[in-house]
Amino acid sequence: MHVAIIGGGIGGLVTALYLHREGIGCRIYESVPEFKPLGVGINLFPHAIRRLYELGLGDGLAAVGVEANEFTWFNQHGQLIYSEPCGRHAGYNWPHFSFHRADLHSVLLAAVKHRLGDDAVVLGHKCSGVDQDERGVKVKFTDTASGAPLPAAAADVAIGCDGFHSAVRRQFHPDEGPAQFGGINLWRGVTRGKPFLTGASVTRCGPLKDGKLVVYAVRNHDDGTQTINWAAEVQKGSWTENDWNKHGRLEDFIGYFERRRFDWLDIPDLLQRSEFVLEYPMVDRDPVDRWSFGRVTLLGDAAHPMYPRGGNGGAQSILDAELISGLLKKIPDPVAALKAYEADRLPKTAKIVLTNRSTPPDTIIETVEELTGGKPFKRLEDVISREKLVQISESYKQVAAWDIASVNRAAV
Ligand SMILES: Cc1cc2nc3c(=O)[nH]c(=O)nc-3n(C[C@H](O)[C@H](O)[C@H](O)COP(=O)(O)OP(=O)(O)OC[C@H]3O[C@@H](n4cnc5c(N)ncnc54)[C@H](O)[C@@H]3O)c2cc1C
Repeated sequence: MHVAIIGGGIGGLVTALYLHREGIGCRIYESVPEFKPLGVGINLFPHAIRRLYELGLGDGLAAVGVEANEFTWFNQHGQLIYSEPCGRHAGYNWPHFSFHRADLHSVLLAAVKHRLGDDAVVLGHKCSGVDQDERGVKVKFTDTASGAPLPAAAADVAIGCDGFHSAVRRQFHPDEGPAQFGGINLWRGVTRGKPFLTGASVTRCGPLKDGKLVVYAVRNHDDGTQTINWAAEVQKGSWTENDWNKHGRLEDFIGYFERRRFDWLDIPDLLQRSEFVLEYPMVDRDPVDRWSFGRVTLLGDAAHPMYPRGGNGGAQSILDAELISGLLKKIPDPVAALKAYEADRLPKTAKIVLTNRSTPPDTIIETVEELTGGKPFKRLEDVISREKLVQISESYKQVAAWDIASVNRAAV
């Protein structure tokens, strides 16, 4: 069996590692001619980290990531609403890591090349579509730089791991139309500075209507400073197409955060000293009813693009990768294996896509905002009970499949 993996992001690389572990040959075809660091952070929770540890990547990840120890939620006045431990500090058997994306990608890519060989990743190959018959698949490419056609790749199975703007998804769902915009714009960046709070806190501050900030450290430096990732979310009526590398302007959103100088973090200073500013709209797509078409299927953002809330898009691509590889090993007929993969993963991820729209973890801040009318509170317990806050936090974990019981149920 040979599998063509289209796209070398988190989903494609982890799929290659799992297929290799199952003894299934594969090759990744990636459109970019060269991988360049994307300077934003990513959180991986224990449900995803568990899989990467099982793939033998634990030491590599621990060397580059910041092991988070708590989640914190603040209102726009800098008052703590709720905090809870995370990862091993909360009783999970695996850590929660915050990464610089480039670091996570490098660990995954190095493992693929080390285990499968340098030629397992082919760059500059932009997939333009797939053809198939009962005997196999042909993946068609153009040269990314010149646009010239390249020889097609033959395989038994093709997996479209080609992200939000997936060409494979477009082929099978040609009438899907544009992405669905959630009325929110995101600006992101990284700033080097002194650790804030515990130095390992994944923090959210402020309600959406007044500007929300998500902030966490992604790299520790020898001089005691950290690279701190931030993402500012502001409501907006219009959007331009999502592109990981689109540059943004500080003046378009800093106004929302100018008064947020707290004893635990000076937010305007953090934003002003950012190494760069990137811009990204909050977009997703409605869940589709099919991912698998004969010998071809979708995985990761190509299959279930979701709002980046609750740190789950990349994680779900890792869960997809584990399942599809196991099924391709177990079920001799690849068409049946891809159907079984879809039957398991499609409904689960569709639920997350919809929950990320309606009740993401930020609901904690929004609920308190409503109860206080946006004013500072004197005593939080007069506004909302601890039990209610715990309940909001736990309900998202159940949907996202990262509650402690489900994650720890797996063997250590
Ligand atoms: C602001 C933001 C914050 C996020 N934070 C988190 C988080 O904290 N935790 C989390 O788990 N997730 C997070 N996500 C989501 C996560 O980044 C994605 O879900 C994840 O990157 C999906 O991985 P993927 O491999 O499916 O797609 P991608 O990472 O997009 O990779 C797709 C790859 O396919 C390549 N490609 C595209 N088209 C073609 C083609 N035609 N032919 C060949 N190759 C092609 C691309 O170049 C790319 O390398 C966040 C997303 C955003 C936008």
